[in-house]
Amino acid sequence: MEEPLRIGVLAVQGNFREHVNVLGRLGARASEVRKPNQLDGLDGLIIPGGESTAIGKLVRAYQLEQAILAFKGAIFGTCAGMILLALGAVDATPDQPLLGMIDIVVRRNAYGRQVHSFETDLELAGETQPLRAVFIRAPWIESAGPAVEILAQHDGRPVLAREGRILVAAFHPELTDDTRVHELFCEVAREAASVRT
Ligand code: GLN
Repeated sequence: MEEPLRIGVLAVQGNFREHVNVLGRLGARASEVRKPNQLDGLDGLIIPGGESTAIGKLVRAYQLEQAILAFKGAIFGTCAGMILLALGAVDATPDQPLLGMIDIVVRRNAYGRQVHSFETDLELAGETQPLRAVFIRAPWIESAGPAVEILAQHDGRPVLAREGRILVAAFHPELTDDTRVHELFCEVAREAASVRT
């Protein structure tokens, strides 16, 4: 039998518990990450939604910034996590830390304020069944470099994208019962692990 994947979920702020639950349903070994050494031995890391400025500052305060930059496994950022992984952010707060691990520029709060949170069906690349997606004060991808694969769009704006071992979603796949985006991330993590060994 295949070894279960070991996936950490950054647990400094935001909705990390929901990601841990989905990973458990998929048979992965999920753990909460609050310290740099908790990244050791992981195949992947999820950076959840929440508030990107707060998560960025806590990542710095807990000395996790260098550790995440040095991490060789797959990384999946949802919503605030997508902002943190981006190279640039339009409408970021002035001192907002960004990790620059995927060649995208995002627009923060692109769909307006909290009241503009919404649900919609997305067409997923390579899939016939639509994906129900929950957007909460979500960013969109304003521009993406040539190596970035766009996997879903909403109103002409990319909202799910991948560059190598980095996956980002503007929405919250941990808040619906459809596990396809997490399954995709598990595949990315397996691929990244096979390249490393
Ligand atoms: N708008 C939030 C931010 O800028 C992200 C919202 C979310 O993660 N649901 O961090």
